[in-house]
Amino acid sequence: MHRALAGKTVTRFESVYPSVTRVADDHPIVGRTVESVSARGKHLLIAFSHDLALRTHMRMHGSWHLYRPDDRWQRPAREMRVLIATSDIVAVGFNVPVAELLTGRELARHQELRALGPDLLDAAFDRAEAIRRLQERGREVVADALLNQRVMAGIGNVFKSEILFLAGIHPFTPVSRLPDEALARVVDIAREALTANVLSRAQTLSVSMARTTTRAMEPNSRLWVYGRGGKPCRRCGSSIETRKTGLDARLTYWCPRCQKPVGD
Ligand SMILES: [Zn+2]
Repeated sequence: MHRALAGKTVTRFESVYPSVTRVADDHPIVGRTVESVSARGKHLLIAFSHDLALRTHMRMHGSWHLYRPDDRWQRPAREMRVLIATSDIVAVGFNVPVAELLTGRELARHQELRALGPDLLDAAFDRAEAIRRLQERGREVVADALLNQRVMAGIGNVFKSEILFLAGIHPFTPVSRLPDEALARVVDIAREALTANVLSRAQTLSVSMARTTTRAMEPNSRLWVYGRGGKPCRRCGSSIETRKTGLDARLTYWCPRCQKPVGD
């Protein structure tokens, strides 16, 4: 999004959120230049000239798509929450549940952003700090610790299962039972998987932002375990297991053979 939008003048700005349009009415976005687009965890920050930025958060189902002005959207218009257009690109935030316009000062003081752990997509990612924050989780299971954006920012539910598969770690292992080198490996794999995914997404425009960890481009073989409950493991053929956890009943997927519990 940074490559597509940075340096360009906004020609159209829309949002279904009254709190956003109220600020945009008083401080118009149209006519401003997009200075940068950056991710901090699952927050996306779009900075405009003259000290205003749009913060959005994807939560579970939000996504940003980039289109050419004449492209057909891949999602229904009623799912549009925010839209930013330049002369040649239309960026549409679909089902983005959180959106707000902030000044630089408000952004710097933002509670949620300040609490975030090291950002896996940041060039200056602090690996030692991420490992330290992971160690602090103690008896919490590693699958939950990875989703905690205060430990590391950037891992969502899909990547949680994929990273633990790649690390060969059972998702319900308490963090305290994992040796330091295993935690370091998880952090390195997480960084590699997220970075590779961002690069592959950037190569395509107006293609839905599909995630991949297997490096395969075919839609059915992009992920190792996520969404593959009951199907054979791509490495060993065992049946992929799945379990719902937490208040929001998020699914965790793992291979019972490739990801043995510690001590077994
Ligand atoms: Zn397996």
